[in-house]
Amino acid sequence: MYDVVVIGAGISGAATAWELARAGVKVAILDRWGPAAMASGWTLAGVRQSGRHPAELPLARAAVAQWEGLAEELGAPTHYRREGNLRLARTPEEVPVIQALAEAQAALGLDITYLPDNAAIRAVCPAIGPSALAATYCASDGHADPYATVAAFIEAAKRHGAETRFGEQVLAIEESAGRVTAVRSDKGLLPCGAVVLCAGVLGNELLAPLGLGVPLDIHMVTVLRSVPVEKVLAPVIGVANADCAGRQEADGRFRATSGVEPWHGAMETSPRPAVHPRAETIGGVVSRFAAAVPAFADAPIESFWAGLIDLTPDTLPVMDRAPIEGLVIGMGFSGHGFCLGPVTGRILAALARGEAPDQPIEPFRLARFNGGAVRGEGVTLHG
Ligand SMILES: Cc1cc2nc3c(=O)[nH]c(=O)nc-3n(C[C@H](O)[C@H](O)[C@H](O)COP(=O)(O)OP(=O)(O)OC[C@H]3O[C@@H](n4cnc5c(N)ncnc54)[C@H](O)[C@@H]3O)c2cc1C
Repeated sequence: MYDVVVIGAGISGAATAWELARAGVKVAILDRWGPAAMASGWTLAGVRQSGRHPAELPLARAAVAQWEGLAEELGAPTHYRREGNLRLARTPEEVPVIQALAEAQAALGLDITYLPDNAAIRAVCPAIGPSALAATYCASDGHADPYATVAAFIEAAKRHGAETRFGEQVLAIEESAGRVTAVRSDKGLLPCGAVVLCAGVLGNELLAPLGLGVPLDIHMVTVLRSVPVEKVLAPVIGVANADCAGRQEADGRFRATSGVEPWHGAMETSPRPAVHPRAETIGGVVSRFAAAVPAFADAPIESFWAGLIDLTPDTLPVMDRAPIEGLVIGMGFSGHGFCLGPVTGRILAALARGEAPDQPIEPFRLARFNGGAVRGEGVTLHG
């Protein structure tokens, strides 16, 4: 019998399991494939406060504060670098957009600077090409290594007694008389007092039989990764219309992404989940990111993939207790849940323990979506 079963070993589940384990909770974390098998491995892994929805900004700021000492707390590297974030305007039309973003975010208390021309941008980051006309710059943003970070959370959770069950697929969340009783996996039944559901884009497969759901619009983002090349780029690069982004990893590999595009609907599930990008989009990533950072054009590409993005209607996550006692949901991070990971873990662990989270979660309630707070019609609660 576990106190809590965490479903999903992406950054949200891994951080939650660590928080629970170090609080002395008997916890198991299950993943159908293994750590960082989906979004938390596919990600760009920017750790950014800039460009955040005002409701999410307090969480992002709290997360960034924790990222600084996270590797030490976890006892393993995250390769976190606080090297800033530049968001570029590349057309005259985008300049006022970027300027307004700088003003709005500064008004929310974020330390963000407006860089009004190419010279000012290149003074911060000489690797930027001549097409950038203006930018926002947030020096306290950064990036980290997603696999290393998730592994660090998992290993730290294990040291505190968490049980890891990887290669095990959860088939159902069992309930009786309106409360969670167990998790049923392809390996058997795991009785438990609470469940934290962090199964990303697949989470609704487990919520639907309970008459619950988080409204998700699944999109995809294409990612290209180069071999290690000379390090020229410190900040993470974004653009005003979000049609590309990128960074250079600690070992010199560029990781560049497309914008969000419709998912073609296919995902391989063996041996690991894989979504294949469209050829045209790969070309778009090359041309757009190389225009922003010319050194990228020469970098030999080592690998490419696509990742699925779980967009909620308001692009804010759900972090809440479900209307079934003992069930906590952490889903719908809408393409920006990596940065939030450490704070997500604190929030979901507190909810699973019946405590008040240390961050405001009103904007992340399930009840904000019609039908999300109540069970769907026709669903039988007791069999
Ligand atoms: C291309 C791309 C770029 C991104 N860039 C950024 C960025 O720069 N900054 C940022 O903050 N965020 C970014 N994000 C978003 C961020 O990566 C995600 O929001 C975050 O990783 C979500 O983590 P998670 O743990 O909630 O979900 P996931 O990492 O998707 O984890 C869900 C886990 O659940 C497991 N699972 C699913 N179903 C079952 C089941 N039935 N049984 C057992 N296990 C199951 C899966 O195997 C998976 O490991 C990006 C995402 C993508 C795809």
